[in-house]
Amino acid sequence: MRAELLKNIRAAEPYVPGEQPRNKVIKLNTNENPYPPAPGVGRVLREMDADCFRLYPDPTAGDLVNALADFYGVGEDQVFVGVGSDDVLSLCFLTFFNSGRPVLFPDITYSFYKVWAGLYRIPYECPELDENFRIVREDYYRENGGIIFPNPNAPTAIYEELDFVEDILSHNRDSIVIVDEAYVDFAGRSAMELIDKYDNLIVVQTFSKARSMAGMRIGYAVSNPELIRCLNNVKYSFNSYTMSQAAIACGVEAVKDREYFEQGVRRITETREWAKEELAKLGFVFPDSKANFIFARHPEHDAGELFEKLRADGIFVRHWNGEKIGQYLRITVGTREEMQTLFDFLKKELG
Ligand code: PMP
Repeated sequence: MRAELLKNIRAAEPYVPGEQPRNKVIKLNTNENPYPPAPGVGRVLREMDADCFRLYPDPTAGDLVNALADFYGVGEDQVFVGVGSDDVLSLCFLTFFNSGRPVLFPDITYSFYKVWAGLYRIPYECPELDENFRIVREDYYRENGGIIFPNPNAPTAIYEELDFVEDILSHNRDSIVIVDEAYVDFAGRSAMELIDKYDNLIVVQTFSKARSMAGMRIGYAVSNPELIRCLNNVKYSFNSYTMSQAAIACGVEAVKDREYFEQGVRRITETREWAKEELAKLGFVFPDSKANFIFARHPEHDAGELFEKLRADGIFVRHWNGEKIGQYLRITVGTREEMQTLFDFLKKELG
């Protein structure tokens, strides 16, 4: 293309999602849930009258907001919903990281943060994790234009207790701190319980992991009413109808079924604990996972080669190149049977 045309076009370096193969494979590469969503979700879909799609959906997604507010015991004005937490997080970047000062997030973390910062021209700095892949809290004591980190972090799967989160919040009273809790249901306490105490806190969660609904695209933020209003103002300056009728109705059903949700989380965490033992027996080393994936390396086998061999056998895991993480594989916790197939293959392969 001609340079004169190109120079005024917004350039973006996009996020690269994990592969979504359409044939039958063992899919342990994008941290999806191997079990179906709550039974009510299927029922609502089957009973849905397509005529409802004639009309625009409720722009506030009020039914879903109410269901989440009930579930977490917060006000309806404290919940914001979006098209997956990627949508919510990208709107958070646009809304809250507007000071011109660098936003801080770890050097090894969810790679979409860099993409949004680049797209919106937000300056950022990435303090290094320590040698055990832990976030160093003192690195977040300096002046900044906002802070974001996942807890548990991705792809390390390491969870920090709430006193750690609170320490970062209390050292940054004048900055917005976003805690991306995509995987917190598999880990421990959510920072949501700190919302009344810290007016600079936003907690973001998703239906894609513990609620088994990655394909429906639902994410949400919980914060104080003022910050939620700011987020809504930006959303309504962008697209009023982000949530489809189907997403709103299915989301409500998923939230209502607390028992199914808790049982599903238990099933994944039990499989994860067993998978850690099996991986250790095979000689893998990994930080202690509190998520629905394990970030593991084998001291004697090249991760890139293992990744390719697994892939050729129809077992998909995730691998990134890079100096610090190039020898690691990120393995999603699937069903016990899927994990057994993985371990059988690895046993053969590693000899
Ligand atoms: N945050 C983190 C840390 C993630 O790993 C993911 C999943 N790729 C997301 C957010 C986004 O998930 P979703 O848009 O499906 O809610």
